Amino acid sequence: MNIPAVSPRQRIYPAIIPASLFTSSDSKMFDFNQICVVLVNTSHPGNIGATARAMKNMGLSKLTLVQPEDFPSGVAVGRAVSAVDILDNARVVSSLQEAVEGCGLVIGASARSRNIPWPMVSPEQCGEKAVAEATVNKVALVFGREDAGLNNEELQLCHFHVQIPADPNYSSLNLSAAVMVVCYEVRKAVLALDERPAVAEDEHWDQEKANSEQVEYFYVHLERVMTAIKFHDPENPRQLMPRMRRLFSRIRIDVMEMNILRGILSNIEYRLDSEKKLNAQLEGNETDEEPQP
Ligand code: SAH
Repeated sequence: MNIPAVSPRQRIYPAIIPASLFTSSDSKMFDFNQICVVLVNTSHPGNIGATARAMKNMGLSKLTLVQPEDFPSGVAVGRAVSAVDILDNARVVSSLQEAVEGCGLVIGASARSRNIPWPMVSPEQCGEKAVAEATVNKVALVFGREDAGLNNEELQLCHFHVQIPADPNYSSLNLSAAVMVVCYEVRKAVLALDERPAVAEDEHWDQEKANSEQVEYFYVHLERVMTAIKFHDPENPRQLMPRMRRLFSRIRIDVMEMNILRGILSNIEYRLDSEKKLNAQLEGNETDEEPQP
């Protein structure tokens, strides 16, 4: 992955944008286009159609499909009924990273708990967080494959894990049913805006939150530096990167903080590089000073 460099001497400090500029005051002003439903590697086109229908019922319309197995499909169209427009406008991408690029908040739905637990929210909290964040940033709600759900790497691209508290004896919902539950919570949160306007986390903040693309660049940079200083062994990674990801997704880092961290990493690389050059020079001098035969 080629990541844009932040040179040690030239750091980028973004302009401060007052969050109040983006605040919506009631549900009529709410922009549903800020919230996107992402389906990962769906195998049954019927589920894609049923998802489109569930979304339209709840007022959402942005659908992104990550490597769907069978799309476009007549079966999807049949199940979408009057929500074919959502299928027509669906974005098809080749990775989850691409799907969530530019999003300030990413929430992944999964019935399963994980070895490294991810910050968990209820469907209701998911709706509230998504709606509050959508007043300032794009939001992605991510759903997994019918047979295997979301893998750990995919869940680790999300800030939160939403679990629908279904019966533990059979907790796995049909994909489109899970989409419906989450979209319904989004709708409830939007309708509640009339009584209680949503307050995005950024609202009282002086900086924008870093988006997922910027955070991904940071992880690549962090891993490279941790490897260079021999803190991290990519041959024996253990859980270091997932734990770093969990740490920074809990913090929801802003753009200024991200640039400071990237600047620190660049300085470490710059120092390592200077040290390497100096050592090479010293070695060269030592060889020059060898007595001639
Ligand atoms: N067998 C899969 C479940 C796949 S169901 C597994 O073990 O993970 C397809 C998708 O619907 C899941 O990836 C998830 O996004 C969503 N889903 C189903 N049941 C859910 C639940 N109880 N809570 C949250 N999401 C759920």
